Amino acid sequence: MATQIRPQPGILDIALYQGGQSQIEGQAEPLKLSSNENPFGPSPAAVAAMQGALTQAHRYPSTDHAALRAAIAEVYDLDADRIICGVGSDEIIHFLCQAYAGPGDEVLYTTHGFGMYRISALAAGATPVVAPERERMVDVDALLAMATDKTRLVFIANPANPTATLIPMADLARLAEGLPKVCLLILDGAYAEFTEGYDGGKSLVETRENVVMTRTFSKAYGLGGLRVGYGYAPKEIVDVLNRVRGPFNLSGIALAGAEAAVRDTDWVAECIRVNAEERARLTGGLRQLGIGCDDSHANFVLARFADEAEAVAVDAYLKAQGIIVRHPRSYGMPQCLRITVGRPEDNSRVLDALRSFKGAA
Ligand SMILES: *Cc1c(COP(=O)(O)O)cnc(C)c1O
Repeated sequence: MATQIRPQPGILDIALYQGGQSQIEGQAEPLKLSSNENPFGPSPAAVAAMQGALTQAHRYPSTDHAALRAAIAEVYDLDADRIICGVGSDEIIHFLCQAYAGPGDEVLYTTHGFGMYRISALAAGATPVVAPERERMVDVDALLAMATDKTRLVFIANPANPTATLIPMADLARLAEGLPKVCLLILDGAYAEFTEGYDGGKSLVETRENVVMTRTFSKAYGLGGLRVGYGYAPKEIVDVLNRVRGPFNLSGIALAGAEAAVRDTDWVAECIRVNAEERARLTGGLRQLGIGCDDSHANFVLARFADEAEAVAVDAYLKAQGIIVRHPRSYGMPQCLRITVGRPEDNSRVLDALRSFKGAA
């Protein structure tokens, strides 16, 4: 007898998220440049704080995350009452969809938008809608043209993943201003730290009612494995999101690690400085080899090859050298490879491998 137990509409349309590969058969210690992780790891102060928190693992953690929110507010000059912390910024994206979009509603993002926007929209029963980009850039006019009276949420990552491109603040403001009044704009700032002089959208959150910024400890702070992110939003929206948040969503260890990480401003500043230097070297090296590459505003570069076949060949060649990068097929960019900026010696290895591939080709 066929089962009558069925999930909610939309759930079976979800394709599982594909993370960056981390292993190569027969290679004990591959160089992993596939998930935009900080190659220097977490701040030593964060590691020490997490070790200290281990002995308190029998205690339930804080439910209001007051200490972490205060630390974030202090370091980034934010209002702690407008911060909500989640299990990665993924969870904030999830809360937003759960709270603001449902069956019959549309969730809008762009062609190469982050995979979690679609997954969370479908999980909420809403309809994902994709607007085109222009030359690998978020196109504000296309988004405005596609926003309807059904659109509830618009997600854009700035800088974007996997393209690493950035749109100017004036465009973000124009988008926020032009969207229907019932629609919330989410500025995903997973890579905001890597763009000098960009506040991730903080100023828009503080001056408007319809903008939310998400941030994460997974990238610049080197804590992807810890799972901590946050949202910055008008107070009324934070109050709504807190209703769907589990009271103990973040462990005491995660709270301690993230708080120490955000307070260790020298560590993250040094990681960002080296990233900028190495990103420029990697971009220049690719271009010298005749490989297309937009200016990156993040901690990765998107290398464009002649076609999918060449990207696949380069991917295989790098793997044979023990180097794992990301083939962003699922993002509709089969002719590209996304390469996380590593330590200086890692990036030299990548460029050497590409040079020998090109020499052999
Ligand atoms: C990595 C990434 C995130 C971060 O997800 P976490 O859940 O915070 O680890 C969010 N958005 C984009 C575009 C990303 O690339």
